Amino acid sequence: MPISARAAVSRTVGQAPVIEPVTLSDPQPDEVLVEICAVGICHTDMVMRDGHLPVPFPVVLGHEGSGIVRATGSEVDDLAPGDAVVLSFMSCGHCPSCDHDQPAYCHSWAPLNFFGSRADGTTSLCDASGQSVHSHIFGQSSFATHALVNRRNAVRVDPDLPLELLGPLGCGIQTGAGAVLNSCRVRAGSNVAVIGAGAVGLSAIMAARIAGASRVVALDINDARIALALELGASHGFHSASGTLLDHARAADCPAGFDYIFDTTGLADLVNQAILALAPLGELALVGAYPFGSRVIADAAHLMSAGRVVRGVVEGSADPQSFIPLLIDHYRQGRFPFDRLVEFFEFEDIEGAIAAGESGRVVKPIVRMP
Ligand code: NAD
Ligand code: ZN
Repeated sequence: MPISARAAVSRTVGQAPVIEPVTLSDPQPDEVLVEICAVGICHTDMVMRDGHLPVPFPVVLGHEGSGIVRATGSEVDDLAPGDAVVLSFMSCGHCPSCDHDQPAYCHSWAPLNFFGSRADGTTSLCDASGQSVHSHIFGQSSFATHALVNRRNAVRVDPDLPLELLGPLGCGIQTGAGAVLNSCRVRAGSNVAVIGAGAVGLSAIMAARIAGASRVVALDINDARIALALELGASHGFHSASGTLLDHARAADCPAGFDYIFDTTGLADLVNQAILALAPLGELALVGAYPFGSRVIADAAHLMSAGRVVRGVVEGSADPQSFIPLLIDHYRQGRFPFDRLVEFFEFEDIEGAIAAGESGRVVKPIVRMP
């Protein structure tokens, strides 16, 4: 029996989604039906909306959903109706990266997360006129009251937690924290810079504190975000236009440069500055959404001669099934107060939620389902 739902459908590149009635097909054997409780808005939703990723339209975006399992496919034996789940990205489970517990670098990442369908090419959504609508963005398409997701994509969480808060753990927050704790494994006592104090950058800053970093330098162009970074654990905050990153390193008493730099802006100019501000053995993590064709300019001798590293980071190199529970544990212990980033909106006001994020007023808008 098809399931009736409502979804915010994006029909035109660059335009806000519009809420419409839709129907979902029954779960496939390895899928679960999730009634969405709330969904965070990530900057990557805007990148997809604007046509900068290979996402087909019409489509339901949304990839930071949380909700309750309502039905399970015939092969699902580890989730049951009533379970509270956080939805994350999709991975195949059988490529070399998945075999090495690195699902964020799944060899089928793009088709499983961006191509708007299941691995077999089918979509789960139809609009009121019976036309199919692309689904399964990040394996979930959760700007909707309901989503069909693969069981790999759903992480069971404790029912005592405020479920409406938890969806962003599935992407932006996991990405920033994981870049620090998994991708780079920041050492205690090291000096860290985070460029861009949005949801991803602020999560990286909180994680750098957990890792025991010495100096944690936040850079942004939004003064309120710099102030929030200082409250959440940054030791220094600078307006990034007030000097080069090397100037800021010196001002933060890191004359050799930074041991770790996390770029969350996606701006190639800042990446090039960052390479010059790496201390010997320093690592630069590229975390932002860089437009295809962005060029990194690095002096090969500068990298080679002091063992400097530049690495790409997807989803904080996380295995969501273990990393999301770990972040929840840090949150419970008061070490990871990601609730400070969020503001809630009603589903009917999804356009207002998107605008609040894009204007920089709200770090992490979360849309609650009725
Ligand atoms: P965001 O818009 O909340 O944060 C970006 C921050 O960069 C903002 O605070 C903005 O003021 C700041 N900024 C803009 N220009 C700047 C400049 N010149 N100098 C310093 N700061 C500047 O976005 P977010 O949700 O935190 O996401 C950050 C980026 O990470 C986005 O590009 C997003 O698409 C990407 N992302 C990547 C992954 C991944 O797996 N690699 C996952 C999630 C998000
Ligand atoms: Zn995201």
